[in-house]
Amino acid sequence: MTQRPLTTIGFDADDTLWQNEQFYRLTELQFTDLLIDHADSDHISARLLEAEKRNLRHYGFGIKGFTLSMIETAIEITEGEVPATVIARILDIGRDLLAHPVETLPHVRQTLEALSGNYLLVLITKGDLFDQERKLAQSGLGDLFDAIEIVSDKNASTYRRIFSKVGDGPERAMMIGNSLKSDIVPALAAGSYGVFVPHELTWSLEHVEEPTEAPRFRKIGHLGELYSVIEALS
Ligand SMILES: [Mg+2]
Repeated sequence: MTQRPLTTIGFDADDTLWQNEQFYRLTELQFTDLLIDHADSDHISARLLEAEKRNLRHYGFGIKGFTLSMIETAIEITEGEVPATVIARILDIGRDLLAHPVETLPHVRQTLEALSGNYLLVLITKGDLFDQERKLAQSGLGDLFDAIEIVSDKNASTYRRIFSKVGDGPERAMMIGNSLKSDIVPALAAGSYGVFVPHELTWSLEHVEEPTEAPRFRKIGHLGELYSVIEALS
């Protein structure tokens, strides 16, 4: 019996299955407005990004870490003079972000429905546990997955571990996502296929160069094109 070349398919969640970054951008606009008397918005955004970068190793990915980074930036920009009312507003807009509506991207449900049953489908996402569980529940997509993995970071060993546990190893697995840095490059390093689905908004810390030379690298315009990529492998 010949082995199937592909048995297991991993999907990123934020900005692959549903909108995410756009809500962060709106929150950031509200945040820079709060501090506009102290600095221009580009400067505030740059300082916020620096704070997020510094804090990733302390807080991990997600809204709670983002909220703490906004508070830290407000303290820096105002040289310690930020009023408690402004801190309270920052906490409010952070909490609003935790309640944003879940907007599934085009072709997502049809694609998952077409693949489920024939392949093991696993959702692999980082971020706040509560927030990701909420979004998955609201998306109504949970039943289409064989496994859900909410992880603190995505590197090659993450994919090796998950694709060995859920499927039959990384070589017969594929990862799909909008982040080259988190979804594609480490999955390719693990020996899997990596299918890049660019999203018009992607967090600047997730950008790396496209691994166009990698034989298992693929790129599609939207999830509706995934099925033909998979068919071409078999
Ligand atoms: Mg993503």
